[in-house]
Amino acid sequence: MKENGQQSPLMKATREAIGDIAVSDSLIHEFVKDFFPKVNEQGAQLFDANGNLPVAREERDMMIEELTEKFGDIFNILRIDRNDPNSMNTPHRLAKMWVNELFAGRFEAAPKITVFPNRKQVDELIISRNITVMSVCSHHWQPISGTCAIGYIPGDHVLGLSKLSRIVEWFSRRGQIQEELGEQIADFIEDIIKPKALGVVIESKHYCMIARGVNESEDKASMVTSVMRGSLRDELPLRNEFLTLIR
Ligand SMILES: [Zn+2]
Repeated sequence: MKENGQQSPLMKATREAIGDIAVSDSLIHEFVKDFFPKVNEQGAQLFDANGNLPVAREERDMMIEELTEKFGDIFNILRIDRNDPNSMNTPHRLAKMWVNELFAGRFEAAPKITVFPNRKQVDELIISRNITVMSVCSHHWQPISGTCAIGYIPGDHVLGLSKLSRIVEWFSRRGQIQEELGEQIADFIEDIIKPKALGVVIESKHYCMIARGVNESEDKASMVTSVMRGSLRDELPLRNEFLTLIR
């Protein structure tokens, strides 16, 4: 609960629900804090780790300030002395990194996508491969690092190839699971250009499998997911061609 007297919508709603009974704010807070809220203490809507709700730059800077303080608390819990010169500014570094980089896709508006008419009636696969995937797993907040290949057969429109990289980056910079990342990328592209065929193949390393847990070796452990839509889903020879071309 904020000390400045501002109440979250959840706190307000609870107070309204209990009517005239005299109960302190801190008691209500004790009561509601065990339920997963729909809004945070500032009244901002909470949404899935891999969702997106754009946040203005100034507001993101406020998030960084607040997060720096909370990371400081975490350092105290972990008994890290911040007189240690290497740790002194780490809470602030972490706060900037999560808001501006690792989770940027949650807060930035979708990349502007220009489409071009498919004047030559291209009816073959257009492929972009080795697109960087740098994400974070929602389960452990550990890096997911890999590549993505996207292929499509256009309908009436084609995309600038660099836009595919932008789309992958935008969806990667969030808490993700790889299965949903591929689906989100495919949904987004389908919406924009309505291709006749679309394939999204991601291969990546999950550091939650490497740094912890089963301690997989870095060069062996990888996860592959594929999303096939339209004729890439229905026509086996086309799918084989795609999988050969992206190898
Ligand atoms: Zn994980």
